[in-house]
Amino acid sequence: MSITQGKPGSVCVYCGSSSGADPAWLAAAARLGEILAHAGVRLVYGGGGVGLMGACARAAHEAGGAVLGVMPRFLIGAERPVTGVETVVVTSMHERKIRMFEEADAFVVLPGAIGTLEEAIELLSWRRLGLHAKPIVFYNPGGFWDRLFALFKSFIDQNLVPGSFSQCWSVVESVEEILPAIVSAPRDVQVPHHVAARS
Ligand code: AMP
Repeated sequence: MSITQGKPGSVCVYCGSSSGADPAWLAAAARLGEILAHAGVRLVYGGGGVGLMGACARAAHEAGGAVLGVMPRFLIGAERPVTGVETVVVTSMHERKIRMFEEADAFVVLPGAIGTLEEAIELLSWRRLGLHAKPIVFYNPGGFWDRLFALFKSFIDQNLVPGSFSQCWSVVESVEEILPAIVSAPRDVQVPHHVAARS
């Protein structure tokens, strides 16, 4: 089922690969995996068995959900795919990202580090350019992403992007809000290419 009919068929989750992350975040990632599985939504993810990504995938798989991992060959040793989960092996990070993008109807960003940030930023930059209209939801426990949102606000305040840019993503404080936020995300947001010159 595609997102245009309501519930997404597949949701891509970007999240941290550190197993030393806050245990509450690891638990939230696992809870999201269960929620997706119980809702019949396929999880698309980076393919690793470590950190939040592993927690989410393992929980979705154990709850009977469909899971697709996309793993670059050179990271197999470091990120250790989850046994039993369908994992596509690709050759590069770029191939991983485009495959994850193409396989998903919507995207969720959980707490993470440089890899998560890079994936989220690319997705937002493509959204800003009108290359896709897929929902993007940030899970923001304890205001984890607030500094990023403050930077985005400064882009708008400084006339670097139109104000409508801020409608390209949603922010939720609980994992239970993620699927509803995807379903209710606006699809028709236009972000004009140019911002008018200052008078
Ligand atoms: P991190 O948030 O740094 O823990 O990374 C989360 C995931 O993003 C890990 O699976 C990384 O391998 C992955 N990652 C890091 N950089 C990139 C990139 N440039 N393209 C795609 N995935 C990446």
